[in-house]
Amino acid sequence: MPTYEYLCEKCDHEFEQFQSITARSLRRCPNCKQNGLKRLIGSGSGIIFKGSGFYQTDYRTENYKQAQKKEKSKSDTKKEKAQAKTKGKDASDGKPKAESTKKKKPG
Ligand SMILES: [Zn+2]
Repeated sequence: MPTYEYLCEKCDHEFEQFQSITARSLRRCPNCKQNGLKRLIGSGSGIIFKGSGFYQTDYRTENYKQAQKKEKSKSDTKKEKAQAKTKGKDASDGKPKAESTKKKKPG
């Protein structure tokens, strides 16, 4: 008995079902109990395009990897230039630094 693949268009539930060739295709989804089943072509590699452009088969992983690479390529490095502007070094008094540091004034 061949194995048929079913895909529910209502809930995207996918499963395999043993059926004889003469058996009628299923309609009711065992998952959501709605008549949204669609029998997939089980010969060879049945690639089904979803609306979003994803493959339904194992090829999806390959596609997914490439999509992730594109995401990573985005260089989103935020480097905040923390430049602390320290003002007040200029001695308005005009006194030499060497002398002022050595002198100790009480208070
Ligand atoms: Zn369903």
